[in-house]
Amino acid sequence: MFVQSLPLEVIQKISAGEVIESPVDCVKELVENSLDAKSSRVDVEIIKGGKRYISVRDNGTGIHRDDMEKVIQRWSTSKIKDVSDLLSITSFGFRGEALYAIAMVSRLVIKSRFFQDQLGIKMRVEDGKVLEKQEIGMQIGTCVEVYDLFYNLPVRLRFLKKEDTERNRIIKLMKEYALSKWDVHFTLTSNGRKVFDLYPCQDVKERIQLLFGQKFEERKNSKNGVSVSLYTSLENTRGEVYLFVNSRPVQNRNLLEYIRKTVGYKKVCVCYIDLPPYMVDVNVHPKKREVKIYKENLVKELIRELFKKTPPYFNFMLAQEKAS
Ligand code: ADP
Ligand code: MG
Repeated sequence: MFVQSLPLEVIQKISAGEVIESPVDCVKELVENSLDAKSSRVDVEIIKGGKRYISVRDNGTGIHRDDMEKVIQRWSTSKIKDVSDLLSITSFGFRGEALYAIAMVSRLVIKSRFFQDQLGIKMRVEDGKVLEKQEIGMQIGTCVEVYDLFYNLPVRLRFLKKEDTERNRIIKLMKEYALSKWDVHFTLTSNGRKVFDLYPCQDVKERIQLLFGQKFEERKNSKNGVSVSLYTSLENTRGEVYLFVNSRPVQNRNLLEYIRKTVGYKKVCVCYIDLPPYMVDVNVHPKKREVKIYKENLVKELIRELFKKTPPYFNFMLAQEKAS
């Protein structure tokens, strides 16, 4: 007999690693939770590229005191209820495994005050177990702190990248969410230094200008319930593409390469694709970074058309200059 079932403890750590592989995954899940909780402000703080400490604080709805211990259970979510909900996902999260996974591989502190309560609850968790729970005074909202990620998973710890690399990945991620939710106030602090402080913007154009500080052109196209809004830098720089499907930052290789080819490899490009939720499958991978789009060819056609026609678009940065 050589084949044996693995002990639960091993299974838990292996599966947690599918969702959380590095500090940036942790920040992503926590920021998404804050946005799902309808926060208008999200403050992120990291120390040592997130390897030592990550904190995500928001002013959202908060977690109900009776739910505090449930949120770290696996497959526990307030966002979907049954299979039919999978066809119309509008929240970032829905799998109910992020906080569970983080709890398994870090020392976790969750503080939350539900919007209808006078006091908050602070809960300290280690190895997935609640060590301490007490009432505290705090503002409405939630603050999740992650200490010593992978302290109990030495192999994973060894494979983390250098502090700078991990930090840069977090900065890029935060830019993506800042472009996804331009009306939300985001701050990022690294080793005690402000990396950015992005005030809430009126529209996406204002956020793009705030973030990149250069001129962009806007192009829009739509057909059969699918719409594309595309913003490209006028100047050539180091090319970068930010792609969003129904506000979710995604990394579809095929589509990203198509956009690069179409807009030019030296442009900064921000592309928003909006389509009915049933046309997108975000459930391809636990991290939800890859999505399947059922009408990908229509999306490509819409993008191609934007660059074929004589510019029907509004060159907003230049128009702003003329107006002033
Ligand atoms: P999911 O986001 O897929 O539901 P998570 O493990 O990320 O799963 O979170 C579990 C649950 O905890 C969420 O469904 C939500 O009810 C609650 N929660 C987590 N973070 C927050 C937050 N910042 N504000 C309010 N509720 C939260
Ligand atoms: Mg989540």
